[in-house]
Amino acid sequence: MSNEPLPSVEEFQRFFLDEYEQYSQEIERTDEVPAELLKRVADIGAYRLTIPKELGGWDLALPDYLPYVEAAAMGPGSGRMLVHLANGIWRPLAWYGSPAQRELARKSGTGEICVAFALTERTGGTGRDLHTRAVRDGDAWRLSGEKHLVTWGPRADVFIISAMTGERRASDALTTFLVPKDANGLQIDPTQRTMGLFGSGHAYLDFENMIVPDSDRLGEIGQGLEVALSFLDYSRISLSMCMVGLAQRALDEAVAFARRRTTFGKAIVERDVIRAQLADMQVDVRAARALVREIGALPVSSPNYRAAACTAKLHGLRMVGRVTDTALKVHGGFGYTKDAVIERIYRDARGFWFEEGTQEIQQLVISRALLGES
Ligand SMILES: Cc1cc2nc3c(=O)[nH]c(=O)nc-3n(C[C@H](O)[C@H](O)[C@H](O)COP(=O)(O)OP(=O)(O)OC[C@H]3O[C@@H](n4cnc5c(N)ncnc54)[C@H](O)[C@@H]3O)c2cc1C
Repeated sequence: MSNEPLPSVEEFQRFFLDEYEQYSQEIERTDEVPAELLKRVADIGAYRLTIPKELGGWDLALPDYLPYVEAAAMGPGSGRMLVHLANGIWRPLAWYGSPAQRELARKSGTGEICVAFALTERTGGTGRDLHTRAVRDGDAWRLSGEKHLVTWGPRADVFIISAMTGERRASDALTTFLVPKDANGLQIDPTQRTMGLFGSGHAYLDFENMIVPDSDRLGEIGQGLEVALSFLDYSRISLSMCMVGLAQRALDEAVAFARRRTTFGKAIVERDVIRAQLADMQVDVRAARALVREIGALPVSSPNYRAAACTAKLHGLRMVGRVTDTALKVHGGFGYTKDAVIERIYRDARGFWFEEGTQEIQQLVISRALLGES
């Protein structure tokens, strides 16, 4: 592990709100995070907050990590995407990987490499309904299929790709592979544009009979669903705190705007209707933060841990929707222009609807746990 001291949450927040924020217009224009900024994010140690010490990280437990990701989420969406993904993606590598694959977790923590997670398909549903298939061919596998919405796909060095190796819908239907970006037969199309979260880059992947050596399998044959889900619970809790951070920023922007905007001779912050809206936003943000903290402090072995993570996510995505709706309205028509930071925040917030599962999927998991179903 590096001897550098862990930055404080305040330093982290300053970095994302000041230094990273200064790049916002460039990122919005180019839809890329400049290389020097990616390096700065690595330099402050943002990729390795939760990575175990033996793999070069600071090994922060979830409750200690959450304030950092909340701080990162107050800046442009690509910043929190960097922190959130790197502090989750090491888990399948470290937990299921061979010694060589575990080393990728170390490199991801220093920012030397970028690892992307490729599960979602245009052709199939997520999980056991995938259409990407892997067929054994001697010491290797032939992978055929497609993926999309792969965050950081355009700059990723390695992809974690899930493929069907068994019977559709069986619990052991999936196997996971680590595929380098230069694998023969892998086509990466970096042109998938999103509504917000500019700079984080999304890619389509296409491959037909792509040969992947068996040594690049991550985990056992049939263990793919477990590998793919292994970090989802932590990740949903981390994502929920990102929603809190972004909602807090939206509230701060609404307060600042309400103070400076004067109509009919009075700052709008003096109007009771505006004050009531600010108060409602404050209640929403604080309640969501308290919920994420409570769930983030649960031991992983707690009953229905997955449903608890989904509870934070479901509540968080509704909360950030309400808060960014109201914050935009408080800004009046100015908020709808590209001159207003709330315009970017509003778009960035909508990604939360889908990342790591929609509202309907969270409801499904929560209701099954509630009813005692597996
Ligand atoms: C910003 C962003 C980043 C992303 N990053 C990644 C990434 O890095 N890697 C990756 O693999 N994916 C990524 N995704 C994809 C994301 O995980 C999926 O979009 C999400 O899980 C929903 O899947 P889908 O898009 O296939 O929706 P669909 O499955 O097509 O869903 C369409 C609608 O039907 C509903 N629905 C679907 N199935 C059911 C069901 N069984 N029961 C009830 N309702 C159902 C959904 O809730 C939704 O309302 C990202 C998405 C976004 C927006």
